[in-house]
Amino acid sequence: MEGKEQTVREINLLIPGPTPLPPEVRAAMARPMIDHRGPEFGQTLAAVLAGLQQIFQTTAPVLPFAASGTGGTEAAIVNVCSPGDRVLALTCGLFGERFAAVARAFGAEVIEESVEWGRGFDAATVEEALRRHRGIKAVLVTHNETSTGAANHLQEVADAVRPSGALLLVDAVSSLGALDLRMDAWGIDLVYTASQKALMGPPGAAFVAVGPRAWEAVSSSTMPKSYFSFARAREHLTHEAAYTPFTPAIPVVRALAVSVGMILREGLPARFAHHARLGRATRAGVEALGLRVLPDPAWASDALTAVRVPDGIDAGLLLRTLRVEHNVVLGGGMGPLAGKILRISHMGYVQEEQILAALGSLEQVLDRLGHRVTRGAAVEGAAAVLGG
Ligand code: PLP
Repeated sequence: MEGKEQTVREINLLIPGPTPLPPEVRAAMARPMIDHRGPEFGQTLAAVLAGLQQIFQTTAPVLPFAASGTGGTEAAIVNVCSPGDRVLALTCGLFGERFAAVARAFGAEVIEESVEWGRGFDAATVEEALRRHRGIKAVLVTHNETSTGAANHLQEVADAVRPSGALLLVDAVSSLGALDLRMDAWGIDLVYTASQKALMGPPGAAFVAVGPRAWEAVSSSTMPKSYFSFARAREHLTHEAAYTPFTPAIPVVRALAVSVGMILREGLPARFAHHARLGRATRAGVEALGLRVLPDPAWASDALTAVRVPDGIDAGLLLRTLRVEHNVVLGGGMGPLAGKILRISHMGYVQEEQILAALGSLEQVLDRLGHRVTRGAAVEGAAAVLGG
């Protein structure tokens, strides 16, 4: 309890990554440094990778890299593709566009299929794109589009891609640990994520789960790669001890050993239900303030809520006032959504008290900036969901 209260009082960090850390995860990073080729590190990394396999819901090897999530993006592309490969990028926001841009930068022929920001892809749109564009080697999709707060229905996308024979590569940077993702059961070929979001770790590590069909592509891939070589990373992994070819982010790996253990002890169904509950509560809270959630309800993410800033309200001033006067840190809009939305994260270790406190503060600041609100409505709206 004390830990939770402290988190709220210190800084109510509700950006969609980096996310708040459990006290025991923070403590794991404060220990004396160890040898990255010694037995303690080898066993710790092996345990993290085995735990992550359970969260990816796969038996495929999980490869670790000292990198941010975008390192995972680059690793996925350069190991699976060759210059000139036709790649279908399903984009519905900034991170989907980045996935496409990385593939383009390394010489893939990228065909971008977009839907309006705030929506995700339905099966018909994916099937139709694959009918129009033949010879697609890989389909790229972002599970949870953090820039819009829309989550793709990944199983539906995977079912639509499968008959084409194309590989399916998934950016799960802001979804793994928050939203159900069954890599093997849904027939997904490659998934990557990062340490600093729903996995409740600090920034600094990317992980890529590589399935059998993706490994086949790896053996013939000719895109340039060195640091991010899957073949080289795999050589250093065994069940008993796992190492990396280059210096790993030791404190990050130790932190994840704790947070991954916490996630698995709680159990994936309970973790996903927790995120769904906070998602419903946050949406109810902001709607009770008269605000509009950006994404179409069919795709509204349970990992974060993107909310339109009302006309006449300066988004920068709103975010600044929340930060300076209320200690509440929310995300702003990115790219074309800058100044138009705010993003409230409920991924990872975020507690319901933090969401209620943020909604209460949001209500006060909006009121002061001249947006008409019903006092107490936001917290009541969210609490009704949380109590139910
Ligand atoms: N993909 C998604 C869906 C993300 O949310 C992010 C970061 O927010 C990234 C990729 C990029 O991750 P990083 O900033 O760790 O490189």
